[in-house]
Amino acid sequence: MEDFQRAIAAYCVFRPLPRIYRPMTSATRPTRRPRTRSGPSSSFTRVRRLADRGVYERDVIASILDAGMLCHVAHIVDGRPVATPTFHWRIGDRVYWHGSVASRMLKTNAQGGEVCLTVTLMDGWVLARSAFNHTANYRSVLCFGRPLVVEEAQEKARLLQAFTDHWFPGRWPTLRPMTRKELGATLVLSLPLDEASAKVRTGGADDPARDLDFPVWAGVVPVRESLGAPLAEPGLKQGLAKPKVRPPSRARVGAARRPGTGC
Ligand SMILES: Cc1cc2nc3c(=O)[nH]c(=O)nc-3n(C[C@H](O)[C@H](O)[C@H](O)COP(=O)(O)OP(=O)(O)OC[C@H]3O[C@@H](n4cnc5c(N)ncnc54)[C@H](O)[C@@H]3O)c2cc1C
Repeated sequence: MEDFQRAIAAYCVFRPLPRIYRPMTSATRPTRRPRTRSGPSSSFTRVRRLADRGVYERDVIASILDAGMLCHVAHIVDGRPVATPTFHWRIGDRVYWHGSVASRMLKTNAQGGEVCLTVTLMDGWVLARSAFNHTANYRSVLCFGRPLVVEEAQEKARLLQAFTDHWFPGRWPTLRPMTRKELGATLVLSLPLDEASAKVRTGGADDPARDLDFPVWAGVVPVRESLGAPLAEPGLKQGLAKPKVRPPSRARVGAARRPGTGC
């Protein structure tokens, strides 16, 4: 038996086992301490097209993830690219998503293959004097890496609470408690923010000087995504408090960014 264990240990030292055979590390273990970065975490995440819109600071990336109501998870299924919209939330240096254990996306992601998770906030259409120079104000994030499965039931419940309470603060403790079966039917995945980039555009139209006298309206049409006033279910018991809802996000990366044309 000892020989077998030694052989396994030696094998693991030289060749990482396929993920399915590796003992699961907690998906919530703290990742490397984030640096306050002024540059990209890897060559892959360096914004090349309109590079001055690239932002790599962890707090900016976190604020965009927190403000986004949904993400898309891109992954490969049977050799084909799939980008699946789903909900996400962030705690510390990791972003999380969840769903049914029967979901093809989640089952695929649980195998630990590379994914790209992206969140986009549209802040405004930018109308220039020419069609060519029309653009948009936005904040977007791309995160790359291999997801981990959250295995431990209590940890899973804690994370699901964080998701619910992110949008509806204080709601989780007021709910009918989740059953063991419901928890078992739910898969929670996480991705570290070790390899992530943001791209941000703010400001007005950036027409060339020769177009400035052209007689057409130019400027910004703001776009806002926000939660509306809650509408009660029919038959609700009297006297129940309405849910608290998260206030709309404000674009925090503002004036400093240079406008420009293109996206
Ligand atoms: C709402 C919205 C609308 C857009 N519309 C258009 C459009 O119509 N046409 C168009 O060409 N582009 C558009 N873009 C920009 C687009 O997302 C790409 O940034 C751009 O096309 C350059 O792609 P690329 O592959 O050359 O990027 P590169 O700069 O070569 O990408 C290198 C790395 O930079 C990072 N990166 C690139 N783009 C983003 C991003 N948006 N957010 C975070 N990180 C990023 C990634 O880590 C990527 O691996 C839009 C972006 C947003 C948010």
